Amino acid sequence: MSNQSQKIASVLLAFALLISAFPSQSYAQRRAKKFPASKELKLDLLIKGGTVVDGSGSAAVKNDIGIRGDRIVFVGKSARLKVDVARTLDAAGMIVAPGFVDPHTHALEDLSNSKSSGSENYLMQGVTTVVTGNDGGGPFRVAQTLEKWERQGIGTNAALLVGQGTVRSEVVGEGDVQPTIEQVAQMKNLIGQAMDEGAFGMSTGLYYAPGSFAKTEEVIDLAKVVAAKDGVYDTHLRDEGSYSIGLLGSIRETIRIGREAKIPVHISHIKALGKDVWGQSRQVVRIIKQARAKGIRVTANQYPYTASGTNITAALVPRWAEAGGNAELFKRIKDPQIRPRLLVEMEANLKRRNGAEAILITRSRDRELIGKTLGAIAQQRKKSSVETALDIIESGGAGIASFNMSEADIEYFMKQPFVMTGSDGSSGHPRKYGTFPRKLREYIYGKKLITLPFAIRQSSTLTAETFRIPERGLLKAGYFADVIVFDPKTVADRATYEQPETLAAGMKFVVVNGKISVDEGKYTGMLAGRALRKTQ
Ligand SMILES: [Zn+2]
Repeated sequence: MSNQSQKIASVLLAFALLISAFPSQSYAQRRAKKFPASKELKLDLLIKGGTVVDGSGSAAVKNDIGIRGDRIVFVGKSARLKVDVARTLDAAGMIVAPGFVDPHTHALEDLSNSKSSGSENYLMQGVTTVVTGNDGGGPFRVAQTLEKWERQGIGTNAALLVGQGTVRSEVVGEGDVQPTIEQVAQMKNLIGQAMDEGAFGMSTGLYYAPGSFAKTEEVIDLAKVVAAKDGVYDTHLRDEGSYSIGLLGSIRETIRIGREAKIPVHISHIKALGKDVWGQSRQVVRIIKQARAKGIRVTANQYPYTASGTNITAALVPRWAEAGGNAELFKRIKDPQIRPRLLVEMEANLKRRNGAEAILITRSRDRELIGKTLGAIAQQRKKSSVETALDIIESGGAGIASFNMSEADIEYFMKQPFVMTGSDGSSGHPRKYGTFPRKLREYIYGKKLITLPFAIRQSSTLTAETFRIPERGLLKAGYFADVIVFDPKTVADRATYEQPETLAAGMKFVVVNGKISVDEGKYTGMLAGRALRKTQ
């Protein structure tokens, strides 16, 4: 198939050269020479009359896109060709771009559930490929997950990362302990097997228990297995703020892992979390640039919101209190010898996140709490904020939006050519429904912080290249036909912290592997996504 497409592409190139060489020849004469009737271009879809931003970073061009089967077979001016088209999509006044590739999602559950595997929230953002299994939480039974997706059908393409946290939990348990030599060998085995089954790399969540109990050397050991199989390393930093080794310390740890394991490293949802580290984006970028200059492949992703999304336990409880799992945590909360120390440390962590008014409850069994800040709930209950937090944790925990980023840091990171768009989409946070259109609306068409070709590249080609997903993320003959058509005047996020599950606006057509998944702004119910397997 790709051979055939390449042939077509070279014929078209020859044709273009011929046009420029013999401008006096009539169109009919030229066409008759190069394209006799039998050679007409047969297409299933023609996306016509749009402004094409192809993902490479080059400027927008008015062009048409021809699709046959699951591939792009033509990018150019279709009026000059004899084409036989099954359906033409009118893209006049629209931007035509490669389907977005999202490097960090929590789509694993949605994809694995037949009620939500269409991922309408992503399709309506123009996302046609998601990476999932991030934050150290990906499964190690990769083949089983991919087969399930294949049986059930999924709306977007999806690639998996094996999770270091999951593997450590399986082999070592939930405790704050160091693995034996045998356990390290077992973890390496599981990770190697996951890579053989099609994972694109390994994720870590060194901020979260039990991933956090792993020392850097342990992570390097595991990353070497991934490097040998051409995979990538994706990380939620050990510390994005001032909790333990600090933001800069964590960036240096990641770079060390890249250098010693000889693996490309990718920093997920890069941010400066909390006032203690606001403004450090400049130092972070400087350190990353120095590492890149030395040949270490460091990249990052980012979502365009000032609040992160996590759970109240991970945000406020120190890791030592979580060692051994939830049952141990609850024992410590009740223990009169331990509780005071716990409260003191939680108070400090709350400060790191800009205080109780900056913590908004977005998910909870107690629906009364949703939409309120921790500060407001504490006031209502006439208790301290951290006492209130412990009550919430004991009665099942809660998802939170944590307002901890500064707009200046967000913008500085966004301008860097190694930073791509990633939603980190999780329930309760508007980023799951709004990330990509929000970036377009606010930062490209609104503030004009970056150009459209740059932003499209950050949301497609760069991500596919970084995660080594072949033949996607670019509008090019021979590539898979993941194509989006959106209205630059109306593209926007609609999800808010109050209504986080509101679909985005502005996508007119979304084509996944040549199939129309969004047609005139509506999801068609098509499950055209593929479970992607890394081929080594
Ligand atoms: Zn994360």
